Amino acid sequence: MRLSFLFLLCFSFVYTQAQPYKANTYPKEDFRYPLDLVPSIAGSFGDLRPNHFHSGMDFRTNQREGYPIFAVSDGYIARLRVQIGGFGQAFYINHPNGYTSVYAHLSAYAPSLAQKVKSAQYNLKQFEVDFPLDSSQIVVKKGQVIGWSGNTGSSGGPHLHFELRDTQTEEIINPQLFGLTIPDKVNPEFKTLYVYALNGLPFSEKTSKKALPLVASKGEYILNTPKTILLPADAGLGIIALDRTSPQGAFHGLYSIELSLDEQVIYTASWERFSFDHTKAINSHLDYFALKTSGISIHKSFVDPGNPLQIYGENNGHIQLKDDRIHQIRYTITDVAGNSSTLSFKVQRDPTSSIQKVLAKENIFYASQDNSFSNAAVQLSLPKGTLYNDIGFEYAATAKLAGSYSQQHRIYRASTPIHQAYTLSIKVDGPIPEKLQAKTLIKDTKGTSYESSYQNGWVNAKVKSFGTFYVTIDSVAPTITPITLSKNKIMTEKTKLVFKIADQLSGIGKFNGTIDGQWVLFEYDQKTGTLWHTFDEGTKAGEHQLELEITDKKENKSTFKTTFIR
Ligand SMILES: [Zn+2]
Repeated sequence: MRLSFLFLLCFSFVYTQAQPYKANTYPKEDFRYPLDLVPSIAGSFGDLRPNHFHSGMDFRTNQREGYPIFAVSDGYIARLRVQIGGFGQAFYINHPNGYTSVYAHLSAYAPSLAQKVKSAQYNLKQFEVDFPLDSSQIVVKKGQVIGWSGNTGSSGGPHLHFELRDTQTEEIINPQLFGLTIPDKVNPEFKTLYVYALNGLPFSEKTSKKALPLVASKGEYILNTPKTILLPADAGLGIIALDRTSPQGAFHGLYSIELSLDEQVIYTASWERFSFDHTKAINSHLDYFALKTSGISIHKSFVDPGNPLQIYGENNGHIQLKDDRIHQIRYTITDVAGNSSTLSFKVQRDPTSSIQKVLAKENIFYASQDNSFSNAAVQLSLPKGTLYNDIGFEYAATAKLAGSYSQQHRIYRASTPIHQAYTLSIKVDGPIPEKLQAKTLIKDTKGTSYESSYQNGWVNAKVKSFGTFYVTIDSVAPTITPITLSKNKIMTEKTKLVFKIADQLSGIGKFNGTIDGQWVLFEYDQKTGTLWHTFDEGTKAGEHQLELEITDKKENKSTFKTTFIR
């Protein structure tokens, strides 16, 4: 008796450890919260964002900037980075326990960091900087103020974006697993179930699917019409499901999804940790076609063969029933606080459905290898790792747009996601004057233009999606509009020189400002197109000469010169 009890205990212990959705344990006491506000989040780890899973927690800051940010534990500043988009002003702390904390979108750095950043900017004569520091430079104590919260970079409102990473692998880890929790007693919610007919073919926008509405009943979710679902011979399932921390609160991502067939786990996904290299595969995790055409986020509960994310268990989620019996399906979703919900229903094989073995098209691009295509007007080469699924490649040329320099080339389908950039070359139709050759660029019909180079009548670029592409020319210089410069140019009352800058096609490439011939720091906010210089002790009282030079990515240049009085 005693022996079997022990055995059971051991068994259940092993079983719990084997759950793929929490492979590691994390120190719960090492870190404090990075702000001294009641912890509240606008964004959670793993939230579904365009082309990525959210990599940290977005702490709310009362819609204001300027709250002090504290080092979450002892350590040293390991990296300082100022980015035009992305994280804006950010810093990284390495901690002795093997983790790195990251703080982004700051309005300002503490003086010791600010000084390092500014001297790097003046040394390199550029606003964007990114450099490592070693453990001998800036040592910090838990609770020390390191900066102030803000809204810099690609931030849509004042908040602190906070991450915890594995220092060695740089994988981002859910900060709530370190005890930086957000109170949450609300169970995650199921919205809709989807049944996909895969039938041996790779998942694509042509895969047929059926939506089944759900209802909550006695603490469990069920189908709103209680009957057995007929499953295709090779079926995949998908769900729309969300979490919130308060009944009327904003929706966040889930922590885990588990799918089982007759008590056998056939699919799991969990947002414990992931790598930046894999995060774009959210477009494979979700039904990308449904997202792009209907704006809905369906968690496909089957894994595409080219999906590199390591958030899944060992099974791929395909369901191929081999008999005519009734089987039981059960979904369990959890949030990071441990609340869970289940959805159960019965399934049976659809006897009229069968598995197809081959792609119908001839020109197959395989997810597991390099692929290429060329003709007299276009060449493309997709390295292995670009596709999530095999595709029957399709190409078409369509009529030239007015003012463009090539035909339009439709490269497969814009609604099929890809993981990495591929090389696309388009032949220009007809001679282009030599001085305009360097101004050519590839653009897609959705408005994205790509950094391009011209060579012997061909324009080459690395493009990041399928779609329709053509060659155009950018020979128009950026615009510069002064904002704070008064008519009489007397700036004694002003703390900043502010401009708006814009560029039509290739985008802002470089900006350079000098006062009396000396380079000075201009900061740039991409969201608003604002460029500014904050006066410092370098600009003494008197008359000064300002020169501002803005260059777009095709070397078209605008210059603005003026004198002003301080
Ligand atoms: Zn964030």
